[in-house]
Amino acid sequence: MRREDIHFILDASVLGCRIPGSHLHVVRRDNDNGAWAKSKRSRAVPVDFLLVQAYDQYVVERDTCREARDSDFVLVNLFRPPLGAPMPPGALNDLFDRLSRRAGLADGVHPHALRHGFASNAADAGAVLDEIADLLGHASAASSQVYLHALDQLASAGEEISVSSVARAAGVHRSLIHRHGDLHAAVIARAGQPPPGTTAGTQVSRKSLLADVANLTARNGRLAAHITRLERRLSEALGQAAWEASGLGAPADVDTLTRRATELEQQILDLRGELAERDEDLEAARATNRELMAQLNR
Ligand SMILES: [Zn+2]
Repeated sequence: MRREDIHFILDASVLGCRIPGSHLHVVRRDNDNGAWAKSKRSRAVPVDFLLVQAYDQYVVERDTCREARDSDFVLVNLFRPPLGAPMPPGALNDLFDRLSRRAGLADGVHPHALRHGFASNAADAGAVLDEIADLLGHASAASSQVYLHALDQLASAGEEISVSSVARAAGVHRSLIHRHGDLHAAVIARAGQPPPGTTAGTQVSRKSLLADVANLTARNGRLAAHITRLERRLSEALGQAAWEASGLGAPADVDTLTRRATELEQQILDLRGELAERDEDLEAARATNRELMAQLNR
């Protein structure tokens, strides 16, 4: 997978791609690392937010490795030599083995299981069999034939060949042809235009750099939103700290306050009792006083 294949942006039209939403392209190439797309067909696969987030983190880590920055490949060696070289498929299997062991899984998870998981999730989300086959890159021969047939018809009729005209002739939306790299390539080839460049070697291609710029812009947007969330949490935490510093403290201090309130209530009751006694004393003293005054005045 090359950096140009990553389209983690809502609108990839700046990159000449009309597929909406975050997605990546699975393009069949003969790669140096011996990794090849499972399917003979090129295709676009939508990705969810978790993957985009994980990729954001990976890019940060990848950027710290100078050798990786010069490579056109997405997955490269960051920790073991040769640094920056395309990660061999075996390394990924090793990683899955190690993670499976660490997670204590009896049956290790293999990369292939992810394809099955993806298919189940897509089915759960309501995708029909054709769509799942399409996303997994299984040749859905019937649908491919429709486009190729339309392409042949247009060519033999000497008509203009473009993505739009083939889509019109096949009675489908243009985006379907854009989604299928091999069909797209076939249309472009027939139209006499050079097919989209399949870069050789590991040097970063211009297309990859353009994709990087677009992806980075999108990532900045995501990070800005993330920072806003963190700032809100920080200000909440600071508010809490200020409240604690005020002396009243956290909920733990409510106990102390309750105890103090009970003490004060008891004190009030005691004082009332004392007050009542004093009242009686005072009343008795007054009575005595009145009696003495009466004797004096006699
Ligand atoms: Zn795309």
